[in-house]
Amino acid sequence: MKKVAVIGAGLCGATAAAELTRQGYQVTVFDKGRGAGGRMSSKRTDQGYLDMGAQYFTARSQEFKRQVNSWLEAGLVELWPCTTALLSDEDGVSSLQISADQQARYIGVPSMQSPVKDLVQSIPQFTGCRIEQLSYRQQSWTLVCEQGLSYAGFDAVVVTLPPVQAQRLMAQSALPELMGSSAQLLEPCWAVAMHTRAIPSEDAIFCQHPKLRFISHQQHKKGRLPCYILHFNAEFSALHLQEPAEFWFAEASAILRQQLNIQDDITAVVAHRWLYASQNDQLSAPGLIDLPEQRLWVAGDWSFGGRVENAYLAGLKLAQAVIEQS
Ligand SMILES: Cc1cc2nc3c(=O)[nH]c(=O)nc-3n(C[C@H](O)[C@H](O)[C@H](O)COP(=O)(O)OP(=O)(O)OC[C@H]3O[C@@H](n4cnc5c(N)ncnc54)[C@H](O)[C@@H]3O)c2cc1C
Repeated sequence: MKKVAVIGAGLCGATAAAELTRQGYQVTVFDKGRGAGGRMSSKRTDQGYLDMGAQYFTARSQEFKRQVNSWLEAGLVELWPCTTALLSDEDGVSSLQISADQQARYIGVPSMQSPVKDLVQSIPQFTGCRIEQLSYRQQSWTLVCEQGLSYAGFDAVVVTLPPVQAQRLMAQSALPELMGSSAQLLEPCWAVAMHTRAIPSEDAIFCQHPKLRFISHQQHKKGRLPCYILHFNAEFSALHLQEPAEFWFAEASAILRQQLNIQDDITAVVAHRWLYASQNDQLSAPGLIDLPEQRLWVAGDWSFGGRVENAYLAGLKLAQAVIEQS
């Protein structure tokens, strides 16, 4: 088995693709987005990037620490010299306290997706290519994209989409329902960027708040527009999922004024809705999901608990599974 299709060019798919290529497989990557990055994508503006998805990542496992060190050496990531704080809001009484810790936090430079792009830079990629159907005949997979084009002759398929999107792809392909309750693992998040001249003394604010889960400021991130980015929590985002950007700008502005005490003018920059953002910790992670006879594997960050590091580890495990089945 030599030809492998990797669907999804987030960190998980990019890692699997890079590892399989390294092991001599002929890999092609497909992504519906404009380039590799997935939920690590930063939005490009004329004055710098906005990290609307992952804000930073940590490295705890030896495998990921090794990878992060090689990205550090290559200048693709840097330590984020942030000051952490906790915003708590209990019964309408809010407080903001510096909460220093020893955790190393990393960012991609000049954008979060820089290390992801690097992993797949020499691998054939079809971007702007949403895969809508898979078919398996005579031990060979064919992929069909939304424009109706077919890509045939793959010995194995690796699916690295958020679980609801993976479930939809399997259903459209009349493949067995493999996802089960894992389809519910990822929850939504509205992310809102706001600009103000005020420069805060804390730039990574964890929130125990009825509406928010995280506020960051990009002042110490190389290549970024110095903005606040507010991530609304899953409950509040789900409750107001269909609200327009104006609703979110008004919410973000009120929070910056009332809870961070900002007096300067506040300008709305961009609001982005992630339907599938981060893991619901109440549900257990399923590990790799597969159809071994047909050589199809499904995984993502959600397979091992969410977050950037688990997307990387899932990518390595996918590559290993393909190699073992060869
Ligand atoms: C708002 C937000 C904040 C976050 N904050 C953090 C954080 O601070 N720290 C941290 O560690 N993690 C954070 N995360 C989580 C982190 O971004 C993810 O864990 C990681 O990026 C997931 O990588 P992945 O490759 O598994 O999935 P994804 O990045 O989602 O990749 C899946 C890819 O599949 C593509 N795709 C989907 N459907 C199709 C299709 N039919 N055909 C082709 N392509 C398709 C998508 O375009 C996407 O590129 C955050 C995520 C969000 C959204």
